[in-house]
Amino acid sequence: MKNFTYHRPATLQMALPLLSDKWGPTELLGGGTDLLDRTKDYVSQPDVVVSLTGLGGAFREIQSAAGGPLPTITIGAGVHLTDIAESRLLAAYPALTAAAGQVAGPQIRNMATLGGNLCQRNRCWYFRDEHVNCLLKGGRKCFAQEGENQYHAIFTQGHPCVIVNPSSLAPPLIALGAVAKIVGPKGERELPLEKLYQAPVKDTQREHVLAPNEILVSVRFGGAGVPGGAMYRNASYEVRQKETSDWPLVQAAVAYHTDRTGVPKGVRVALGHVAPTPLLSESAAKALEGKPITEATATAAGEAAVEGARPLSQNEYKVQQTKVAVKRAVLLAAGVKPYWFAG
Ligand SMILES: Cc1cc2nc3c(=O)[nH]c(=O)nc-3n(C[C@H](O)[C@H](O)[C@H](O)COP(=O)(O)OP(=O)(O)OC[C@H]3O[C@@H](n4cnc5c(N)ncnc54)[C@H](O)[C@@H]3O)c2cc1C
Repeated sequence: MKNFTYHRPATLQMALPLLSDKWGPTELLGGGTDLLDRTKDYVSQPDVVVSLTGLGGAFREIQSAAGGPLPTITIGAGVHLTDIAESRLLAAYPALTAAAGQVAGPQIRNMATLGGNLCQRNRCWYFRDEHVNCLLKGGRKCFAQEGENQYHAIFTQGHPCVIVNPSSLAPPLIALGAVAKIVGPKGERELPLEKLYQAPVKDTQREHVLAPNEILVSVRFGGAGVPGGAMYRNASYEVRQKETSDWPLVQAAVAYHTDRTGVPKGVRVALGHVAPTPLLSESAAKALEGKPITEATATAAGEAAVEGARPLSQNEYKVQQTKVAVKRAVLLAAGVKPYWFAG
């Protein structure tokens, strides 16, 4: 890998001035499980690496504050995935803890941070090959469009580059209505998490809308928004080729609240690994809103979720998997016995 200068500031205020206002010369390091792969493969060649491992306090904590029917949860961007998967403060959010517990394997989960997971770069094999000059590296062509595209996007319309966003934590957090807190040279700003993402088309863009000199500080969810006395339901379901050490083929996360009748309200459905960004599926949410959860409504939500899908030459199979993932996430959230597990 190319030599770089390494900084390990102790505060966000010390970290910010070390960052360039252009993508490339500087990189942030959370746990390094994505960044170091890229530097070793010469896909990223920063002159300066700014490690966030020296930051303490709220950046490394999961905090729960009373204030509404549900506590407000704030997770610092420096919290490791293992700690998210195992946190008792997150017991009401199985969509998130299950997704965190299924990322990669224990070694990666122990190192990887929330911020790094949400901001990790895509895993397209053309992008990750140092010899291939694809759109995202300043080239003129997306090689996956007509090449080996079995793991790529199925929502491709309007997308010159057909990567999938690789984060498994983004879909559950989006379903939970999380808000991202960001700091930069101009101060702090907040974004609904779904608005953190964009479909990149050139080398001066990332999979997210952060500026090169901004830092994701935390995500927040819960609190107000659920009526008193309501029950909050949520789940994530991943279709995986391997049980461990790989990304899901598709993922669906569902969240809603309900009274004793079990009818869902405020439904949010988010899809992962099917488009260049995590997708908030309004059509799937509409198919469920206000209707009793049954096998039929869960199936209808899955059908609605794939409206507009335009798979590539080798990944039509993901359309059916997406339907199944949505259906199973809906049934899991409702507490229906998962009949698809043997035994
Ligand atoms: C075999 C294998 C299987 C995997 N399976 C999965 C999976 O199933 N699901 C999944 O989601 N991931 C999976 N991953 C990816 C893994 O989860 C990521 O590598 C990890 O989450 C990145 O976290 P990190 O802290 O190590 O990031 P880093 O490598 O430190 O950073 C990643 C990127 O994010 C940026 N960044 C880091 N922190 C911040 C911040 N606070 N603000 C702004 N930018 C920041 C960095 O500059 C860098 O560009 C897998 C990885 C491997 C190797």
